[in-house]
Amino acid sequence: MSSKLPVVGEHASSLRSDGSRNYVHPADVHGRFTRLRYIFFAALIAIYVVLPFVKIGGHPAVFMDIVNRRFYLFGSVFNAQDFWLMFFLLSGVGLSLLIVTAIKGRLWCGYACPQTVFLEGVFRRVERWIEGPRAQRLRRNAAGVTFDKVWRKTLKHAIYIVLALLLSHVFISYFVSLPSVVDMVQRSPAEHPTAFTWVIVMSGILWFNFAWFREQLCLIICPYGRLQSAMTDRDTMVIGYDFNRGEPRGKASDPSNGDCIDCKRCVVVCPTGIDIRNGLQMECIGCAACVDACDEIMEKVGRDKGLVRYDSLNGLEGKAKHLGRPRLFFYGGIATLWLIGAAFAFAQSSQFETNVLRLEGAPFSVIDGQVRNAVRVHLINKTSERQTFVVTPETESGIEYIIPQTRIELDSLGSTYLPILAQLPAEQMKRGIKIRLSISMEGNEGRKGTRLVEAPFVGPGS
Ligand code: SF4
Ligand code: SF4
Repeated sequence: MSSKLPVVGEHASSLRSDGSRNYVHPADVHGRFTRLRYIFFAALIAIYVVLPFVKIGGHPAVFMDIVNRRFYLFGSVFNAQDFWLMFFLLSGVGLSLLIVTAIKGRLWCGYACPQTVFLEGVFRRVERWIEGPRAQRLRRNAAGVTFDKVWRKTLKHAIYIVLALLLSHVFISYFVSLPSVVDMVQRSPAEHPTAFTWVIVMSGILWFNFAWFREQLCLIICPYGRLQSAMTDRDTMVIGYDFNRGEPRGKASDPSNGDCIDCKRCVVVCPTGIDIRNGLQMECIGCAACVDACDEIMEKVGRDKGLVRYDSLNGLEGKAKHLGRPRLFFYGGIATLWLIGAAFAFAQSSQFETNVLRLEGAPFSVIDGQVRNAVRVHLINKTSERQTFVVTPETESGIEYIIPQTRIELDSLGSTYLPILAQLPAEQMKRGIKIRLSISMEGNEGRKGTRLVEAPFVGPGS
């Protein structure tokens, strides 16, 4: 930003210069971005609450089954062996966030981060409903203990605790399933102490965070805000104040002043308590409350909207904007590599796992001139439905197979061990000979539905 900008305070906006907490009580704000945010908040909260009820293929749409080490994701089922695929899922989310941040700044923080969604979309709304607008809240908080203050605070915290309990029950249902949560709440906590402890601890943390800690989570704990300077540049979209247009700030009646009438409306609506006129700051979560607030003021004084607006630092200073930047080409290159890697990894993952294991004990036996190897085939159905598998031996090597069951039915994520005896006349024994079995999933015998498993056939002299 311009070197003419005012000096920014050296302490976080949630602290006073003596180190005490500066409680932020943002004023109400109305406008197009606020409306848009509430639509996003409502949609995201609905998704969070409804998702545990949604079933795809007979399983929850999103369910991390901790007990059985399975992960259900929109009809796909992953087991412990597939855990490495999570790398692509998590790195994909991280990479998307990186690219969106480089182009559009802190959209995530302002519109989709759970902290913002629940604090601004739920908990502050409850506070506003019970304790009134900012001026009333400030007046009541500054006054001594009164009956009015006590009942309002008590009611607010009672509702906060109920909300925290509800949110933590929904959260836990993503890990133990919704029917289990419903069942557990009807029984004594002593019958499910682990889940009960999780819910109580999580509810306590949520209540503490949304009732008191609030914006400090973004300012002190969240690493994302601190990484902004590394992820963005002068062409990234931010929320900023048009210094050239606004300064010198002062009364609208004085024609020598800029467009900012110094009403401080943009400051009092800010949920992190900063003054956007001091330039881009780490504390700014990109909520656009100051944009709506200033637009409202500009409309009242008959000036153009957009004194505080979405723009890049270059745009705010009236300089040329650049769409293609080295940073974006670099991120684009990484994203392309990620797409290739993810496509390859998911193409390799099969609908079932199988391998041949040797039985414990002697690796082979020789009976009546026949060399015998006892093995077992381990088979896991990784699909979300019951499947039939067919075991077909490959006999070109001359090995004869005794298979007690060539068609095996397995439930979703079920597994079994199939014992198999392979035998070969001793005179045909030679080095490098292999037990080879083709395992296919009935009705899906294509490339992903058929696997060839093999193991060395051992005998005397091998
Ligand atoms: S709301 Fe607009 S006019 Fe009022 S102080 Fe902020 S920037 Fe200036
Ligand atoms: S400065 Fe504006 S956009 Fe940033 S957090 Fe405050 S109100 Fe939201």
